[in-house]
Amino acid sequence: MDNSPQNDAPHQQRHTRGGRWLDPVFPTTGWVCRGIEDVGHEGRLCDVCQGVRIRFAHVMTHPDVSQALSAGLGCVEKMVDDPFTAEKRERAFRDDLRIRSDWPRRVWQVSRVGNPYINSRGYNIAIWNKGGAGFGVTIRLQNEFNNEFVRNDRRLFKTIEDAKAGALEILMDVRKERRDIDV
Ligand SMILES: [Zn+2]
Repeated sequence: MDNSPQNDAPHQQRHTRGGRWLDPVFPTTGWVCRGIEDVGHEGRLCDVCQGVRIRFAHVMTHPDVSQALSAGLGCVEKMVDDPFTAEKRERAFRDDLRIRSDWPRRVWQVSRVGNPYINSRGYNIAIWNKGGAGFGVTIRLQNEFNNEFVRNDRRLFKTIEDAKAGALEILMDVRKERRDIDV
């Protein structure tokens, strides 16, 4: 069996019942996720089961355990009360990574009033020329029938290219703010 993180779905590898799970004082509840890290293609061993290599490390802390543990989703799901949220959190993290890596290759359209725009994950992102002040970015929900969200970001950029790069960071902020999960 190929356990390398290069395969298509490293998160679906079966986490073992070994490692910390064999420790009788290892707490099986009360863990809090502090965030997720992409540890790269080579991956690292899951701190909890110590049996599989993981690409996306959920950083888990517990009041009775001195060190944070980097665990894969398969183990995290057994450490928290709400495995659905852990799965959602990892999905959002991976989606952000994908948006980020695709961004430089995205082709911007030009609106009827001449503004470059792009659509991504339900958002419409447009760049406005603010005269001598520079270029601004507006993000709104793409679906006009459900258009209750508009962000006219206050950041200004010197060039259109700067604004396109800045728009990615603003999109990431908006996605994070509007997500109903805490990390
Ligand atoms: Zn594990």
